Amino acid sequence: KVRVRFAPSPTGGLHIGGVRTILFNYLFAKQQQGEFILRIEDTDQTRFVEGAEDYIINCLKWCGLNPDEGPHVGGAYGPYRQSERKEIYRAYAEQLVKDGYAYYAFDTPEELESKRQVIENFKYDHNHRMQMRNSLTIPHEAAESLIKEGAPHVVRIKMPKDEQVYFNDLIRGDVSFNSNDVDDKVLLKADGMPTYHLAVVVDDYLMKISHAFRGEEWLPSAPVHILLWKYLGWEADMPEWAHLPLILKPDGHGKLSKRDGQRLGFPVYAIDWIDPKTQEKADGFKDVGFLPEAMINLLAMLGWNDGTDQELFSLDELISKFSLERIHKGGAKFDYEKAKWYNAEWIKRSTASHLLPYVKPLLAEKGIAAEDVYLEKVMDAVKERCTLLPDFYQQSAFFFTAPTAYDEDAVKPKWNEEKAAFFSSLIEKFEETEFQDSLSLETLFKALAADKNLKVGEVMLPFRVMLVGGKFGPQVFDIALMLGKAETISRIKNALA
Ligand code: GLU
Repeated sequence: KVRVRFAPSPTGGLHIGGVRTILFNYLFAKQQQGEFILRIEDTDQTRFVEGAEDYIINCLKWCGLNPDEGPHVGGAYGPYRQSERKEIYRAYAEQLVKDGYAYYAFDTPEELESKRQVIENFKYDHNHRMQMRNSLTIPHEAAESLIKEGAPHVVRIKMPKDEQVYFNDLIRGDVSFNSNDVDDKVLLKADGMPTYHLAVVVDDYLMKISHAFRGEEWLPSAPVHILLWKYLGWEADMPEWAHLPLILKPDGHGKLSKRDGQRLGFPVYAIDWIDPKTQEKADGFKDVGFLPEAMINLLAMLGWNDGTDQELFSLDELISKFSLERIHKGGAKFDYEKAKWYNAEWIKRSTASHLLPYVKPLLAEKGIAAEDVYLEKVMDAVKERCTLLPDFYQQSAFFFTAPTAYDEDAVKPKWNEEKAAFFSSLIEKFEETEFQDSLSLETLFKALAADKNLKVGEVMLPFRVMLVGGKFGPQVFDIALMLGKAETISRIKNALA
């Protein structure tokens, strides 16, 4: 049975790289009729940030990538917060010590610091472990009694010397590491909490995870995890690994970082994140006006494609078409202009009733309220012109309030008697007409222009500016029709006054 997990540490906002990891987990799980699990990796209490877990859950909700198991939904393999599983890990650490794969280390922070002072690039590893204070260098009884007395200690993995650690990565193929390059990582900390390395292995095992998708930045930790699976005797149950390519800065130089957003002026978080300590805000895709469908789509395309030119995919299509084989090995450059293109496309493809819950509050914030039926008509009329959701205000405000100013270089100064006469007659004609379809308004307008020996273009633009205030918006007779007879006439009169 396919079981995958997203395992964030609640240390801050959710970067789009994290959202893409969630997405690939989710797509694979749903495609394989498997389960998608959310596990909160909060064992590092120094990095814990209040509110980060709720924030992550809100992001998942907004994206529509809801976990089947997790701290807020429960499940048969809970608890799903590592801090609530503290008691589980110690026994495994002890088992590793007993079997000779790990050891207790009693070095104080001062002792470690003084080593770092004398040895350049000090690493606690096979070169140095025998000079340190640990259960490999002090007599067994002495170590036992130190532990009984409650002396502060950690458990470290004893990385083997000169061993090649191999594993198969679903994206990268065969990968190997030399064990000498990895130090004796702490598995259990002095406060009794496991480190990430121990907890991730124990929990992936106990939660029966079949495939572990995570960012490429975790690749260097993989040899530690592979050895732990082996040392704990669980090798046969080890998940398949898939280290996902990085999302790169727009120029391709390095990983897209949280700071790039501010520097380059685009969001890198899923939802706005306000740091509880500094109150600093980082923009989220949601809050700048992306539809979740668009964000999902664009993230899927950062590192994957279906082998054709198709770029627009719904979540359901992604579930059916997703394939691990088509995930690229190399990093994917983030391009904000392209990201906005996806959003514009998704706005165009959306029905007005789908857009309503997003757009209505944005308009309400600006003091615009109207019947849903009218709001939907307006959205249909202008959605082709919107890239981000707040554009709906700019593109449609004139449907709700008459313009109070007119585009400068547009028409008013150039009006002459002739044109003014045209619009006076137009008012009369409109008064005698039912506003039922835009085509008959257009026909009437054109006939009148011909009658007055004016080119249609000469009066069409002024007409638009009278109704809209500027040189933008949908087809002008559609606008007039939607505004209705009374409002259209009143706007012409206003402009002529
Ligand atoms: N807790 C790790 C993180 O914050 C998870 C890495 C993994 O999925 O193994 O990204």
